[in-house]
Amino acid sequence: MPIGEFELIDRYFRTAASCRSDVLLGIGDDAALLAVPPDRQLVAAIDTLVEGRHFPVGTAPHSLGHRALAVNLSDLAAMGADPAWFLLALTLPRADEDFLAQFARGMHALAQQYEVQLVGGDTTAGPLSVTVQALGLVRPGEALRRSGAQAGDLLFVSGHPGEAAAGLLLEMGGVEPPAGCDENLTALLRQRFLYPTPRLALGRALRGLASACIDVSDGLAADALKLATASGCGLRMDVGQIPLSAAAQAVVGPEAALRNALAGGDDYELCFTVPAARLAELPGRVANVKCAVTCIGVIDSAPGMRLCRGGSPVAMDVAGFDHFRSRD
Ligand code: ADP
Ligand code: MG
Repeated sequence: MPIGEFELIDRYFRTAASCRSDVLLGIGDDAALLAVPPDRQLVAAIDTLVEGRHFPVGTAPHSLGHRALAVNLSDLAAMGADPAWFLLALTLPRADEDFLAQFARGMHALAQQYEVQLVGGDTTAGPLSVTVQALGLVRPGEALRRSGAQAGDLLFVSGHPGEAAAGLLLEMGGVEPPAGCDENLTALLRQRFLYPTPRLALGRALRGLASACIDVSDGLAADALKLATASGCGLRMDVGQIPLSAAAQAVVGPEAALRNALAGGDDYELCFTVPAARLAELPGRVANVKCAVTCIGVIDSAPGMRLCRGGSPVAMDVAGFDHFRSRD
């Protein structure tokens, strides 16, 4: 007999290690009761992953559990918040216990790593879709926003954007790696799509220094433009400065690697601005953060985005992902 709804919640979600003393009441009642310290603001984010839309049909459930939480922690990272709790709304076609066991393991492993606790959710039958709501804490006034950049601020990105898009192409069989291509490279790219790392340490390190910040989920160009527009500005980005991944260049070629970096999604890197006068503070702030940060452009006062290489303008179609305008 298939497992019932309440048994399922108990077995796979309730028994997960509770790691936080600020959870006054967790899974099992009508709602969770959480102690928000008096000197903190609550930061809330929610994201849904739909099968066939945000992940290919047949994606390993362990990866799905990780990603559903990781993409939400990435939003908290972009706000400079400390993650604390999360809720899970899970819609499943069937109560498949192999699926649930793997899914829960992927999710709980990431939750433990960052000491965030699952405190509630909802479980329903229907087409596979996973919604996570993440809750975090920040000191009043310290949250990073998209809207604080000013003309002259320098624009940075973490990591190597475009790796996840190359990994997704590999997952979908949409690219044939060149003959003799090192399998470690293709494995790394797949890993970047299937197991994104939320840049929480970087977000924390940027509190009080970055003038604006966004996480890159829809493509670097689209998300950098969102940041600039929210700040009432525009930007110039030097495509020659984008820290392209050696692995992506080897697997999909340099041109596609650049296009993926600009217009591919799912990187979950941080794109942020630093006032030019405070640039000298950045290396010390990021010294202990385990990802590179690279200057890729500058905020200016004219709206829109101008791409250049060195001093010369370049023309490229870099529209990011938009659910209601997608070209697929
Ligand atoms: P209600 O009917 O009051 O919405 P439910 O019966 O749906 O409550 O859920 C019972 C308890 O289990 C609640 O505390 C809820 O937050 C929790 N819960 C339900 N589904 C999940 C899930 N997928 N992950 C974590 N907690 C869940
Ligand atoms: Mg319910």
